[in-house]
Amino acid sequence: MLIIKKITTQTLSVPLKTPFQTALRSVESADGVLVRIETADDLIGLGQAPPTAVITGETIESITSAIVKYIAPNIIGLSVADFEGTAETVQRTMIKNTSAKAAVDMALYDILAQSLNIPLYRLLGGSGKAVESDVTISLNEPRQMAADSLAAVNAGYRILKVKVGKGGVSDAQRVAEIRRAVGPETQLRVDANQGWTPKESIRVIQRMEDLGCGVTLVEQPVSAHDIDGLRYVTQRVNTPILADEAVFSPQDAMTIIHTGAADMINIKLMKTGGIREALKICDIAAAYGVPCMMGSMLESRLSVAAAAHLASARSIISMADLDGPMLCASDPFTEGPLFDGPLISFTDEPGIGVKYDEGSYR
Ligand code: MG
Repeated sequence: MLIIKKITTQTLSVPLKTPFQTALRSVESADGVLVRIETADDLIGLGQAPPTAVITGETIESITSAIVKYIAPNIIGLSVADFEGTAETVQRTMIKNTSAKAAVDMALYDILAQSLNIPLYRLLGGSGKAVESDVTISLNEPRQMAADSLAAVNAGYRILKVKVGKGGVSDAQRVAEIRRAVGPETQLRVDANQGWTPKESIRVIQRMEDLGCGVTLVEQPVSAHDIDGLRYVTQRVNTPILADEAVFSPQDAMTIIHTGAADMINIKLMKTGGIREALKICDIAAAYGVPCMMGSMLESRLSVAAAAHLASARSIISMADLDGPMLCASDPFTEGPLFDGPLISFTDEPGIGVKYDEGSYR
C-alpha cells in the first residue's frame, strides 16, 4: 500500500508582477522545480522547490539532480504508509540540499493526507482556520517604497514586510517615511536580510525606535553565521529580533533559543528540508514559548500552500509571510487553498489540495 512507483521533475517559471528586491538579490520570476510522486495505487503527490542560491546554496540544476539522482533511487519502492521511515530516508540521503528535500517531503505529506482523505492541515492537527500573511515591500528608493506600501494598504494588507539592509542609518529614514505614508494602524515588519553589521544594526534599530516607526520586529539584521553578533543586537534593542537565515535546522533553533540570540524564529520549509523537520522546530519553540513566523522563499502557490497548511495547524506559528502567490503575475496551479490578498483560506480537499495540469502551462 502506498508504494512509491515513480518520481518525476520539471521546471516552472512564473513571471512576477514587479521585480522582487532585497539586500541579497533582485529577481523577476518565481522559478522552481516541480516534483510529482506517483504511488502504485495511483495517488499523486506534488511538491515544489525554488532555487534560492544566496540562502540555501541551491539552483534549479542542483535541486533537480538531488531529487532525480539521489533521493528518488533511495525511496522508490518504499511505502508512504511507513511515513517515519520514508521521510527519514529523504533526510538521510544527503546533507544540506534542504529545498530539494522539502519538495519531496511535502509531496509525501500530500500523498499521506490524500490516502486518509483529509486535508493536510487536519493531518497536522489543525481545524483549517484562515492565515493572514504580510506582503513584501521590495527594497527601492524611499519614495517608491512609501508609495508601494500605501498601495498595499489600500489593497487590504494590514501587515507589511519592508526590505531594507543596504543603507545603514538611512534605512531608518526609509522606514520612517513608510510609517508616515501608511499611518499608525499598519503593522510594519522590517527585514534586513543580513545587510547590517552588529553595531550598525543597533544604531539603525535604535534610530527607528527614536523616530517612532512602530516596528513590530526586525528580521535577520546580521550575517547568517554570526550568532554572537545576532545575540549582541538582540540584547541591546527593545524591538524584537527574528532569526531567519540563521535558522535552518531544529538544531539551529535550539542554538538560537539556548543562547538567547533572537526573540523569534522564521521557519521556512526550504531551509528545514520540509514539513517533518519544520514540525520539530515548532515543538522546540513551543516548549520554550518562542513565537514563530511561517515564511517562504519566492515561491509560486503549490509550496506556499503546503506552508500555509502548517501555519494554520500550529499555534506557535503566530505570524505568516506567505505572499509569493500574490507577487506572481499568473498561477500555474488549480484548486487548493485560496490566496485572496492577505488572507489564505482552506477547503476540505484532501492533501495539499493543489493540482497541476501539465497541458495548461508553459
Ligand atoms: Mg527574511
